[in-house]
Amino acid sequence: MCMSVPRYWRERAYRYRLVGTECLSCGRRYYPPRRVCPVCHSRNLVEVKLPERGVVVTYTIIRSPPRGYEKYAPYAIAVVELLDGTKVLAQLTDIDLSEVEIGMEVEAVFRKIREDGEEGIIEYGVKFRPRLTGH
Ligand SMILES: [Zn+2]
Repeated sequence: MCMSVPRYWRERAYRYRLVGTECLSCGRRYYPPRRVCPVCHSRNLVEVKLPERGVVVTYTIIRSPPRGYEKYAPYAIAVVELLDGTKVLAQLTDIDLSEVEIGMEVEAVFRKIREDGEEGIIEYGVKFRPRLTGH
């Protein structure tokens, strides 16, 4: 086992919860988290728990995915604007592709992204599904 434990746990936190970073200089938020703000170049960023609900701002249907993702095609990748305004690029799940539309309400779920045969490494990541209404 060559992966250091602290690093492992740190990465786990990012994969199972919507934890991003906020730039204390300009207030922008990022997911996945960044250490340096790409807008104002500040290194003064802190972790923030992001809201797990948002709306689809734009989306695209992927029919020819990169290697390793073939069995999931076709699927939809969307830019989701969270309730706090943070924009997240993520896959949509639990939806018929014909029903994807701009403005639809979605919520974050943490799902297996892909499985690596060698060593059985499974990557998890955030996806968004239609927000269930009437609950
Ligand atoms: Zn900034």
